[in-house]
Amino acid sequence: MLSKSSNNQSHDAGVAGIGMTSARTRDRLVDRLKQQGIKSEPVLEVIRNTPRHLFIEEAMAHKAYEDTALPIGFDQTISQPYIVARMTELLLEDGPLRTVLEVGTGSGYQTAVLAQVADRVFSVERIGALHRRAESALARAELTNVSLRHTDGNDGWPTSMKFDGIMVTAASKSLPKSLTGQLAMDGRLVIPVEQEGEQALCLICRTESGFTHELIEPVHFVPMLEGVIE
Ligand code: SAH
Repeated sequence: MLSKSSNNQSHDAGVAGIGMTSARTRDRLVDRLKQQGIKSEPVLEVIRNTPRHLFIEEAMAHKAYEDTALPIGFDQTISQPYIVARMTELLLEDGPLRTVLEVGTGSGYQTAVLAQVADRVFSVERIGALHRRAESALARAELTNVSLRHTDGNDGWPTSMKFDGIMVTAASKSLPKSLTGQLAMDGRLVIPVEQEGEQALCLICRTESGFTHELIEPVHFVPMLEGVIE
């Protein structure tokens, strides 16, 4: 089981993978993330234990544990493990999370990582085919604390629910009001924001006196678009 308390990735050959998911391959990835400044032990452990090859096409599975973004079709990419780790670490900085909303399910890999550090994860994707593929990859990874919706994340999650953490995995030219509106008090939102062709990761925190903003580092994400497609 890939549950939060689990410390082992192997339960069947498909999930454990053959050869490419050897402990050494995963250790190498984790070492690289540490060198790049990822400090959170829980995040590093989750990256080590998450079968990233389940979230990409088989033809590319040999690259699953390299620290690179990879194409997943429809002009979209599975995020680089470094950025997945960094954004997760930023959300977790104030302690454990109960509920997290992700905008841009894509492959479902970031969703899988979040599902192991939060009690419950909600994720939305505007491309129907990716939404469905992510649903089956997450089922294969046996992650059951995840709810997915095929919808436009500009509108947030389609209920009045509030989230302890919100993570946007596509670059936005503005900060969608519906997302800040769904952030719980003391909640944290990480979002790549684009200005004049440059993107930067932004951390927004909701406090009693309003929202604080902090620019973290330059990033490269696919754009956040509007509407849904099948
Ligand atoms: N977290 C993903 C990243 C995928 S790339 C992963 O690691 O695989 C970003 C994703 O955001 C794409 O799948 C894209 O279709 C989706 N996206 C872009 N704009 C969106 C919107 N308005 N609502 C929901 N998803 C969106």
